[in-house]
Amino acid sequence: EKLRDLLLAHIHDVPDYPKPGVMFKDITPLLADAKAFAALTDALAGLCERYGATKVVGLEARGFILGAPAAVRAGLGFVPVRKAGKLPGATLAQAYDLEYGTAEIEMHADAVGAGDRVLVIDDVLATGGTAEASLRLIRRAGAEVAGVAVLMELGFLPGRARLAEALDGAPLEAL
Ligand code: IMP
Repeated sequence: EKLRDLLLAHIHDVPDYPKPGVMFKDITPLLADAKAFAALTDALAGLCERYGATKVVGLEARGFILGAPAAVRAGLGFVPVRKAGKLPGATLAQAYDLEYGTAEIEMHADAVGAGDRVLVIDDVLATGGTAEASLRLIRRAGAEVAGVAVLMELGFLPGRARLAEALDGAPLEAL
């Protein structure tokens, strides 16, 4: 369809980045194109409305770039989920498994709460570990999960399956 073609035309494949064997999806050409970035922002804002979101959570770092304008367009507040140690206030932390070792993300504990329906936005769903951990943070804060929206899902990785339990029936949309 038209949106998909417009977005795909501005995502570049970079072989062997950040390490040999990895095909990196570079979204910076999309951000640099006013028409494609606006179309993406409108589509993400539309998902906020469709799923009745009251807040947008963006995942560091590209989830900030995509999530913040979508939140503004949808008339919603924006909440950053960051790598551990970057947020100044009281936080909830969630560890998750990587291919080798673990990582940890944090969210301000009072950023979302009872009565909120939160849409998580990021650029790429790969293994699903980051998004899964963010859903746990949102539920631990007492809020509901409205869904997860990503620009791209790497279909050859089991991200969607890994997220299923944490989504608990909420939608995962890949534009
Ligand atoms: P996951 O936790 O394995 O799903 O990895 C998702 C995170 O890694 C997201 O925050 C993405 O921004 C980043 N990521 C993984 N692969 C790519 C890629 O090919 N391009 C851009 N970001 C990526």
